[in-house]
Amino acid sequence: MSACLPQVLMGAQFTTYRIGGPLDEAYQPTTEAEMVAILRQTQAAGKSLTVLGWGGNSIIASAGIRGVTIITRKLDWVEPITDTRIAFGAGVHLAKSASTGLKYGLTGGEFMIGIPGTIGGAVRMNAGALGQETADLVRSVNLYNLETAQVETWLPEQLGFQYRKSLIDPNKHVVLSAELEFQPGNPAEINATMTKSVQFRKSHHPKEPNGGSVFKNPSKEMPAGKLMEELGAKGQWREGGAMVSPLHGNFIVNVDNATSTDVLRLMRRMQQAIKDRYGLEAHPENLLLGDATPEELELWQALTAGH
Ligand SMILES: Cc1cc2nc3c(=O)[nH]c(=O)nc-3n(C[C@H](O)[C@H](O)[C@H](O)COP(=O)(O)OP(=O)(O)OC[C@H]3O[C@@H](n4cnc5c(N)ncnc54)[C@H](O)[C@@H]3O)c2cc1C
Repeated sequence: MSACLPQVLMGAQFTTYRIGGPLDEAYQPTTEAEMVAILRQTQAAGKSLTVLGWGGNSIIASAGIRGVTIITRKLDWVEPITDTRIAFGAGVHLAKSASTGLKYGLTGGEFMIGIPGTIGGAVRMNAGALGQETADLVRSVNLYNLETAQVETWLPEQLGFQYRKSLIDPNKHVVLSAELEFQPGNPAEINATMTKSVQFRKSHHPKEPNGGSVFKNPSKEMPAGKLMEELGAKGQWREGGAMVSPLHGNFIVNVDNATSTDVLRLMRRMQQAIKDRYGLEAHPENLLLGDATPEELELWQALTAGH
C-alpha cells in the first residue's frame, strides 16, 4: 500500500494531547481512491482499523495502536459545488473550512475557526461552538461503509446528529468527504466573528497540549468547567504528568510527559467528584483509541458506564 509511512510513527505526533505510543502500520492517503484501497486491503487482511483526523479529541494509548491507522490529514481538498454549497475532503482542517466560507463570502462556518479538528472528525463528533454545530451545515456525507464494503452517500437524517455525537461509528464508517451548505453573508462580519472567536480561545484555552473539553457539559446551566472550578480542581488536581488546566476546569493539560493512564485516572477522579458533589453524570467527550492496558480499560469502562 503506497501511502504507508515508512518510519515508526508515534501517536503523540498526531494528537493535540501529544500522547500516544507507536503506530504499527500508519497510512496517510492523499486521494479518496487511495483511502478506499487501503480500507479494502485492511478488511481483506482481517486487520484492525483506526482512523485519525487531527487527533483533537483523542487520547491515544501510550502503548500505541496495533493494526492499521489511517491518518486523513492529507485528504484536504475543497471543491465548490454551487454558490452556497462546498464539498470538503475528510482531512480538511476546520480552520480551512471556516476560511473557505469567508473566501466565498459565505456565513455559517465561523464557529469552526478555532476548533482543532478535521471535517471527518467534526462530522463524527458533531463538533460545535458559538451555539452552532456541524449538523447545521452538513447536507451529505460520502463514507466507506465497512459493513457493505461500499462507498455510500448519507443524508443528514441517516447521520443521527446529537450533542457531540452522530451515528458515524469509526469501526464501521469512514468519512471520505462532506458537502456543507452555507448562506450568503457579509465578509466583514464573517471576518469579525472569526477574529473574536480566535481571540477568545487564545485567552480562555490553555497553551499546554490538551484534548479540548474532556467531558460533555452535564447541562447548559452546569458546564463541566464551572463545576470543576467550584470543586477547586483548576491547576490543583494532578495525576502524573496530567493536570486540570488552571485556565479551564474542563481541560486536562499535559504538563510533564503525561501518559494515557494519567489522563484517564484524572478524568475518573473528576467524574466521581461531579457525581459525589452534584449528583450529576459527566459523560466523556474525549475518546480513547488504541491498545489500552487492563487498568486503562477498566477506567474507560467506568467512565463510559451507562452512557
Ligand atoms: C484546544 C481545543 C479546543 C477544542 N474546542 C472544541 C470546540 O469548541 N467544540 C468541539 O466540538 N470540539 C472542540 N475540540 C475537540 C475536537 O477538536 C473536536 O472534537 C474535533 O471535531 C475533532 O476532530 P479530529 O479530526 O481531531 O478528530 P480525532 O480526534 O482525530 O478523532 C475523533 C473521533 O473521530 C473519528 N474520526 C476521525 N476522522 C474520521 C473519519 N474521517 N471518519 C470516521 N471517523 C473519523 C476517530 O476515529 C475518533 O473516534 C477542541 C479540542 C482542542 C484541543
